[in-house]
Amino acid sequence: MSTPQKISPATLAKLAKLGILHRADLLLHLPLRYEDETHLAPIATVQPGQTVQVQGTVTHNEIAFRPRRTLVCRLQDNSGELYLRFLNFYPSQQKQLAEGNQIRAVGEVRMGYYGLEMVHPKCRAVEDGTPLQQSLTPVYPTTAGLSQTVLRKLIANALETLPLADTLPEILLQRLGLMAFADSIQLLHNPTPDISANSLEQHSHAAWQRIKFDELLAQQLSMRVHHRERGKRIAPILVPHRRFTARLIENLPFALTNAQQKVYAEISRDLTQPHPMQRLLLGDVGSGKTVVAALAALQAIENDCQVALLSPTEILAEQHYLKLRDWLMPLGITPVWLSGSLKKKAKQLAAERIASGETLLAIGTHALFQEQISFHRLGLAIVDEQHKFGVQQRLALRNKGTEPHQLMMSATPIPRTLAMSYYADLDVSVIDELPPGRAPVVTKLVSDARRDEVFERVRAACMEGQQAYWVCPLIDESETLQLQTAIETHEILRAAFPGLSVGLVHGRLDNTEKTRVMAAFKAGELQLLVATTVIEVGVDVPNASLMVIDHAERMGLAQLHQLRGRVGRGAAESLCVLLYQPPLSDLARARLKIIFENGDGFVIAQQDLQLRGPGELLGARQSGVAMLRFADISADEDLLNHARQAADELLRDFPDAARAHLQRWMANKHDYLHV
Ligand code: ADP
Ligand code: MG
Repeated sequence: MSTPQKISPATLAKLAKLGILHRADLLLHLPLRYEDETHLAPIATVQPGQTVQVQGTVTHNEIAFRPRRTLVCRLQDNSGELYLRFLNFYPSQQKQLAEGNQIRAVGEVRMGYYGLEMVHPKCRAVEDGTPLQQSLTPVYPTTAGLSQTVLRKLIANALETLPLADTLPEILLQRLGLMAFADSIQLLHNPTPDISANSLEQHSHAAWQRIKFDELLAQQLSMRVHHRERGKRIAPILVPHRRFTARLIENLPFALTNAQQKVYAEISRDLTQPHPMQRLLLGDVGSGKTVVAALAALQAIENDCQVALLSPTEILAEQHYLKLRDWLMPLGITPVWLSGSLKKKAKQLAAERIASGETLLAIGTHALFQEQISFHRLGLAIVDEQHKFGVQQRLALRNKGTEPHQLMMSATPIPRTLAMSYYADLDVSVIDELPPGRAPVVTKLVSDARRDEVFERVRAACMEGQQAYWVCPLIDESETLQLQTAIETHEILRAAFPGLSVGLVHGRLDNTEKTRVMAAFKAGELQLLVATTVIEVGVDVPNASLMVIDHAERMGLAQLHQLRGRVGRGAAESLCVLLYQPPLSDLARARLKIIFENGDGFVIAQQDLQLRGPGELLGARQSGVAMLRFADISADEDLLNHARQAADELLRDFPDAARAHLQRWMANKHDYLHV
C-alpha cells in the first residue's frame, strides 16, 4: 500500500487554481481528452490540424531569430520530414534535439513558415525498439507551471491511497444500471488498451455516465438542502406598491425590454415572500441590469426598507451612484455614497444616516459592509458583478444581522448550467436580449507588426469626434508592471497625438483623480483614455466606439469579452481591435479565435469552459466550489431526471448516503453538509 505523496506549497497553490483543495478532489479531476501515443504516424501521412505522434532523426537544429529567438529542428523519418519549433526552451532541450538524435514527438501539426511543423511538441529521446504506450494518455485541465506529468503522478497516487467506496446504495446502482464509482474513475484516469479515445471523449461511455450522474445528483441534493434551509429563514415581505417603480418607468428615456420586464417580475415576486430571496441576475454586458436593480431597490423602499448596492470597484460604484441619483432624486429619494476612500468624517456621517434609517439607499464598495456599518432595516442587498466577489463575501453578507433579500448581478458570461450549479442555492434570472438599436461591435485581430496603422486609426477616429479606449497589456498578472506600461503607453500616445487630449486611468490613482478622469472622458473632454483593466467592469460611456486591446493574447476570454463590452453602447458602429504579438501559443490562438467569432457572452463562456477547467473560469477566488464540470443539463436531460428522483429517494431513505455523496462532490461547500 502506498502512502500519500507530499505536495509542495507551490504545487498546492497551483492545484488550488484548478479547484483542487483536498486530496480527494484529485480523483474528480478528470481528463479533458486523451492523447494516443499507442502508435506512430509516418510523417508523410500527417495533415495540418491533426494531433499525432511521430518518430524520426533530427537532421538539422538551429536557433533562428524570426523575430524572436526560436529553436527550429527538422525531424525526418523514412517517409518525410517536418519541423519542430520552440519559442521558449532550455539548454537541455536544445541538447536533446541535437542533430543525429532519435526523437519521438507528440503535437498538433500545422502549416508553418518552412512547411509542416509542430510548435512546442512533447518530445522524448528514444532508441530503436523503445516501446509505445499500451493505452491512451490522459490530458488534464491544468494551469501555468503545472505539468501533465506532475498532475498524473499526483492523481495516480490519489487513486492508490484514497478510499473509492461507492456513495450510492447498491439497489439504486442496480436499478439505474450505473457503473461502480471506483471502476468509473479508474477507467477514466487509466483507460485500458481496448478503449479508443473517441469513445471516451464522446462522454457517452458508461464511466462518464456514472460521473455525470453523480455530479447531477450532488447538485440536486445540495439544492434541496439549501432550499429547505432558506425556507426556515425569515425576511421582510416587500409588496410592490408601485408608488416609485411606476414613476421610474414613466420617467425613463427608454422602454424596458421584454427581458427586463420578465426578470423584474421574477424578482418582484421573490421579494413578496417571507423568506430571503437569493437570486442571480445574469445578463450580458450592456443588457441593462442597472435599471432592473433600481426597480428592485424601489420596491424595497416602497416598504420603508433600506437597500444596499455593492460594487467591486470605486469606478463602478460611483457610476451607479450617479446614475441612480439621477433616476431617484426626482422621486424624492437621495442615495448615500459610501466608499472606503471617504474621509473619516464623511464616512461617519454616512454611517450614522444608514444606522438611523434616514437613508434608504446606500451605494458603495465593500466598505459598505464592513463591521462598523449597520443598517436600521436592511431589506435588500444588491451585489453587482458578483463574480468579482468571493464566495466568502457572499456568505458574510448573508449572515449579517437580520436577513435581507439578496440580488446578485453578473455579466460574467457564466454558462447558465454552470451558474445553476455553482450558485446551486440561487435562483437564476437571465436577461437574454439587448436593448434595441445597438450596432454590433466589429472585432478585428491585428498583429503588432501593424501597430502604426492602429495608431493612425485611433487618431482618425478621435479627430472625427469619436472616443476611444486603449487598454494596456497584462504583464505576468502583476499590477505594478501593468501600471508602469500604462504610464509609458500614456506618454507615447500623448506624444504621438499632439492634437488630442489623452487621459490615463488605473487602479492606483486616488479616487478624486479617478473620478475626475472618468468624468472628463464621459463629458467628451478626453478623446482617448489609456486604461488598465480597471475599466473591465461596468464602465458605461456610450460615445466611446473604439477600443484597442494591447497584447490581447495575454488576456482571458471573460476579460476580453468584458472589455469589449465597454464599446458598442451607443448607436454608432463600434470597433474593437485586438492587437496581438505573434507568434501565438495554441491556447492564445484558440482564445482569440473564439472572441473574434462570437459576440454572445454565454457562447463565449461555454467555449471557455471547454478550453480549460472550470476552476480557472471562475477565478482562483471562487475555485473549489461545486460546478457542473462534466454533465450538460441540455444534453443529459435523462440523467438529470434520474438524478432528481434519486435525490428525493436518498434524502428520504438513505440520509447517510446523501451525506457521503455531498461530501465527495462538495466537500468545499461546508454549507451543504447539513443534510
Ligand atoms: P449592464 O447590464 O452591463 O450593467 P447597464 O445597466 O449599464 O448594462 O445598461 C447599459 C446601457 O443601456 C445604459 O446606458 C442604460 O441606460 C441603457 N439601457 C438599459 N436598458 C435599456 C433599454 N430598455 N433601452 C435602451 N437603453 C437601455
Ligand atoms: Mg452593470
